[in-house]
Amino acid sequence: MSEALARHSRPTGTVRVTVPAKINLHLGVGDLRADGFHDLTTVYQAISLYDTVTVSTSDRSGLRITVTGEGADQVPTDERNLALKAAKLLGIYGHISPAAVIHLDKRIPVAGGLAGGSADAAATLVACAQLWNLRLSDIELEKLAAGLGSDVPFCLRGGIALGTGRGEELNHDLKAAATYHWVVATSQAHISTPECYREVDRLRANDIGRYSYHVQPLLKALEAGLPAEEIAPLLVNDMEAAAVSLRPELSSLMHAGLDAGALAAHVSGSGPTVLFLARDEAHARSLAKSPKLRASAKALHVAHGPVAGPAEQLTGSR
Ligand code: ATP
Repeated sequence: MSEALARHSRPTGTVRVTVPAKINLHLGVGDLRADGFHDLTTVYQAISLYDTVTVSTSDRSGLRITVTGEGADQVPTDERNLALKAAKLLGIYGHISPAAVIHLDKRIPVAGGLAGGSADAAATLVACAQLWNLRLSDIELEKLAAGLGSDVPFCLRGGIALGTGRGEELNHDLKAAATYHWVVATSQAHISTPECYREVDRLRANDIGRYSYHVQPLLKALEAGLPAEEIAPLLVNDMEAAAVSLRPELSSLMHAGLDAGALAAHVSGSGPTVLFLARDEAHARSLAKSPKLRASAKALHVAHGPVAGPAEQLTGSR
């Protein structure tokens, strides 16, 4: 059995799905659009830091959500929860009157720029579709996902993809010939995604930063499976300056990782999580033991990517 399928179990009345965090190897942010969104050119990669979503049938009608794990106390359990929104949307779409409990076991750091909420929404779509025996096509699932948030369609498939539009228009035909190893460093700082976009706009109004839309060198390097040393200078995040401007303490976290020998320090999405690229798995493990880095970060996780998302894991059973 493949690693992906082994991560699923489907006893009667319960479906369990694991879902990876996303990072952006390239995050180019365009100017603010009339609809309030920004144009993005992004290269997503799913990494091996997983939430587990378990959906079980209940004898009580309606949907309930419970949360355990890292940062569980920061996750809403009411209608603001993206996983609950996903289950409701699917119930309406599938003409189901749901009676289910959704349990989230969080390992993806909450509000970390790693799309944990979007990942849970994607996993909930897949799990509920399975539980309710809705035979949805990939296109139907992707449309439902796009209605829930810009990162949700990528979180469904995982792997690696080029995202355009507001990030939800995906091209999965990217070849990624190599696995890359990361240290994921969370921070005590808090940055909300809208706050970070506003800071990007403020800096742009002052001629600081511009839209990085050239992704070809990175795509070619990924396709060729170039070593991490050659990927490091190609990592781009147009939100990084804004995140550091809002929370200058991120800069000392980034320097701590570079001083410890990381190939690159890269803010994840809108932050505040910082990703450190390592040469290989052993290097990632040794970076994660660096006393200076441990002292600067809230927590450190070692992860690799790309890895498959929940829809890919279920392809054979739909
Ligand atoms: P964004 O996707 O907005 O960039 P993020 O990746 O930084 O966010 P998330 O872990 O998705 O971080 O959390 C952002 C906020 O979303 C949290 O502060 C939390 O209040 C809310 N939220 C809603 N549903 C969830 C969920 N299932 N898991 C985590 N957070 C959730």
